[in-house]
Amino acid sequence: MPEADGKVVLITGASSGIGEATARILAAAGHLVVLGARRVDRIEVLAKEIRAEGGNAEYHALDVTSLEDTQAFAAHALERHERIDVLVNNAGVMPLSRLDALAVQDWDQMIDVNIRGVLYGIAAVLPSMRERGQGHIVNLASVSGHRVDPTAAVYSATKYAVRAISEGLRQESRDIRVTVISPGLTRSELTDGISDNDIREAVRDSMREAIPASAIGAAIQYAITQPQQVDVNEIVVRPTVQG
Ligand code: NDP
Repeated sequence: MPEADGKVVLITGASSGIGEATARILAAAGHLVVLGARRVDRIEVLAKEIRAEGGNAEYHALDVTSLEDTQAFAAHALERHERIDVLVNNAGVMPLSRLDALAVQDWDQMIDVNIRGVLYGIAAVLPSMRERGQGHIVNLASVSGHRVDPTAAVYSATKYAVRAISEGLRQESRDIRVTVISPGLTRSELTDGISDNDIREAVRDSMREAIPASAIGAAIQYAITQPQQVDVNEIVVRPTVQG
């Protein structure tokens, strides 16, 4: 069980980067974290490490492109804890390329993970949150949800979509809090998915300015620990040196 004022927090894409850092921060603050990702070996080890440090962590295999999987992830938490206080829709991919490279499979993957995955997460938790009359959905967008750069047209489109979906959910809700977290350059494994060598190396070069993933975890912690009547709608967190 979480500590007295601790929350039950589901985190998608908890096997690396921002999801992993957020899990460590929230667990250290007394929340119970339920970790989801495809690389189950990673989240199993992470859950063990969190428990060894006195925290509460569970894990569940999750592919956010599957509605069934995402519902099973939420059901796991509901069966054990009878509530989901927070869903962090963090899973995301960023296989950047120019549009004329016609990397259609990568476009589909970004749409499936970054948009459908977020919608499936909402579908999995919204009914029980509505029933309880409270809950908090935190969606990871990006600075790329505010601006478009070459090679990032589709990635940006997915992150603009995350902001649009979040704003729609916020306007439809008087009970559920909705927060968008828009990171700038943040250290993680996100660039591993870029197959074009030149683009990957250019992005990795800019990543020398990146802030640690824990900076984003701290922003998420801030948003979820505000009083119930306070809904932090969006936080943009960039490296100070990022243009
Ligand atoms: P990482 O690549 O380190 O983490 C991405 C996570 O998403 C992994 O845990 C991965 O787990 C998970 N994931 C990918 N596909 C799926 C899937 N189909 N089902 C379930 N989980 C999946 O990158 P970040 O930590 O940087 O990314 C986290 C979020 O932050 C993303 O939404 C990203 O777009 C956003 N972001 C990151 C920025 C940065 O500079 N790092 C800047 C702006 C936004 P697994 O492979 O095990 O399934």
